[in-house]
Amino acid sequence: LVVAADVRKRFGSVEVLKGISLQVAKGEVLSIIGPSGSGKSTFLRCINQLERLDGGAIFVGGELIGYRRVGDKLHELVDAEIARQRRSIGMVFQRFNLFPHLTVTENITEGPVQVLRERPGEARDHAHALLERVGLGEKRDAYPSELSGGQQQRVAIARALAMRPKLILFDEPTSALDPELVGEVLTVMRDLAASGMTMIVVTHELGFARDVCQRVAFMDRGQIVEIGEPRHVLGQPTQKRTQEFISMVR
Ligand code: ATP
Ligand code: MG
Repeated sequence: LVVAADVRKRFGSVEVLKGISLQVAKGEVLSIIGPSGSGKSTFLRCINQLERLDGGAIFVGGELIGYRRVGDKLHELVDAEIARQRRSIGMVFQRFNLFPHLTVTENITEGPVQVLRERPGEARDHAHALLERVGLGEKRDAYPSELSGGQQQRVAIARALAMRPKLILFDEPTSALDPELVGEVLTVMRDLAASGMTMIVVTHELGFARDVCQRVAFMDRGQIVEIGEPRHVLGQPTQKRTQEFISMVR
């Protein structure tokens, strides 16, 4: 479903992504681990076109992201086209970014009604079903400020799901949470994985990576150092940098 080929990104003179290549199959859950500054967030932002690539290509669902091929030339997509591509890719950040002045249900129906032109009643029913799914059925009329961080993050996941994405990107979804709230969010993500959603998850939760993900990629200094099944990458890493990182996080 996702193909990244030699993805490169620089900020000024610093090359932050030095040729990232990987594939994620439909229904697969890939986690990306690695030290701070290694380029994990930048890579996710490239998939979602929050950053422009300086080289390489990304395909989602067979579609080239950000460009249109005309003959042997590539043309940058116009904003409306980028917005269309982005709609099918959900993103959940460390900070939940819910609208404070909207209720939980309104936060979830905003995108489907404004962007997908769903009928409000239909969007509301879908939102309520999604809230049940993330265990927040009784919070449908609450405001974000009335919820714990873990509950807000579960609303953010429901909001991403409401757009019926092909793929959801998670950027350290639990690292802003108090330790006792991490589990409830991971449980929702685990259920999502079991339901067949394709997910790329940047996380420091090695337990989650080990138990839920089909594959783990270890990134360091803009490169994928090692990628494979969790029992290999986390259990018996072959690269020294991976070994050092894992012993540090543990
Ligand atoms: P963390 O674990 O701390 O979230 P990360 O692996 O997600 O780190 P990135 O946020 O992708 O790392 O950043 C990679 C590098 O790119 C860092 O050196 C960072 O300072 C730099 N960087 C990221 N965004 C920008 C930007 N908009 N302008 C300039 N430099 C940037
Ligand atoms: Mg980051």
